[in-house]
Amino acid sequence: MQINVTKTTNPKAKPADESKLGFGKIFTDHMFIMNYDEGQGWHDARIVPYAPFELDPSAMVLHYGQADFEGMKAYRTEKGDIQLFRPYENAKRINLSNDRLCIPHIDENDFVEAVKALVKVDEEWVPHNYGTSLYIRPFVFAVDPMLGVHPAKHLIFAIICSPVGAYYAAGLAPVKIYVEQKYVRAVTGGTGFTKAAANYAISLKAQEVAAEQGYEQVLWLDGVHRKYIEEVGAMNVMFVVDGEVITPSLDRMSILGGITRKSCIEILRHHGYKVTERNIEIDELVKAYDEGKFEEAFGTGTAAVISPIGELKYGDKVMTLTGGKIGPISQWLYDTLTGIQWGKTEDPLGWIEKVN
Ligand SMILES: *Cc1c(COP(=O)(O)O)cnc(C)c1O
Repeated sequence: MQINVTKTTNPKAKPADESKLGFGKIFTDHMFIMNYDEGQGWHDARIVPYAPFELDPSAMVLHYGQADFEGMKAYRTEKGDIQLFRPYENAKRINLSNDRLCIPHIDENDFVEAVKALVKVDEEWVPHNYGTSLYIRPFVFAVDPMLGVHPAKHLIFAIICSPVGAYYAAGLAPVKIYVEQKYVRAVTGGTGFTKAAANYAISLKAQEVAAEQGYEQVLWLDGVHRKYIEEVGAMNVMFVVDGEVITPSLDRMSILGGITRKSCIEILRHHGYKVTERNIEIDELVKAYDEGKFEEAFGTGTAAVISPIGELKYGDKVMTLTGGKIGPISQWLYDTLTGIQWGKTEDPLGWIEKVN
């Protein structure tokens, strides 16, 4: 793929204090764009100064939400290498989302090449402190200027980057989670297994209600039976019950197949842990809790890596886990994955892709 690069003549000041970066608030100097037009395919791959898009008010994405995205990171090692974590998995997944949303496929090698090229151009924006990273947001949206409902013939694929702070500034803090019984995130046959933009719009209400009650996130149950566990917020979820790691299987196609989830399963098995992917009923966790066998719960995702759950509320039942501290398997997974990502430990399963 030929990528034309136009560098900014007016670079922004880089953030002076990496401890104040937060998440997704500031953006680098450049962005990647390519266009799709029916008959031409994807064309005009380019890196240009970061700037607003000009969109027709009738652009399809604004009305019918034909859009999806990815989320990944570039990490700076102590030696100064810049590296990605399993970027071909993101490339595969954006096409899984694209398929479901009638968005044309993006060549997976081109996807990774575009990410690498942009990170290289904005290399100085990758922060230095351990735990900080450059968050990378590839996204696709439909721009046909017309109101008829149909699969778009004109789209934009873009990538923007944002330096982000360490998710846990003061050690891994367990979160309080509320089991959502009114709203659902996804149903079999819908878009729950994709990173469709619309999935996030429909999740906001439950999040708002949970926050009003003092909970940080919701645990989603399946949309049909309202009993099988699906995800926690926008993370996958895992439990340790009686020494075994269990996590909802992806079979119902209503759960997003996280790359962190997949990596946790693979690295746990690589180290001899027993991990089972299957349907998990919420009542099963309540029973395990009452029997003293519910040992740990945690969310998994690119942003936080591992998010330990300290409290789970289901109706009137409040389950408190690991005494407000992080459980041993959660901590091991966090240390192992972040060790690989920031290049502090070896990479036994070949997950790292160098950029520079
Ligand atoms: C992105 C996402 C995840 C986590 O996926 P990772 O590849 O691990 O970052 C989990 N659930 C939902 C709904 C997501 O959007």
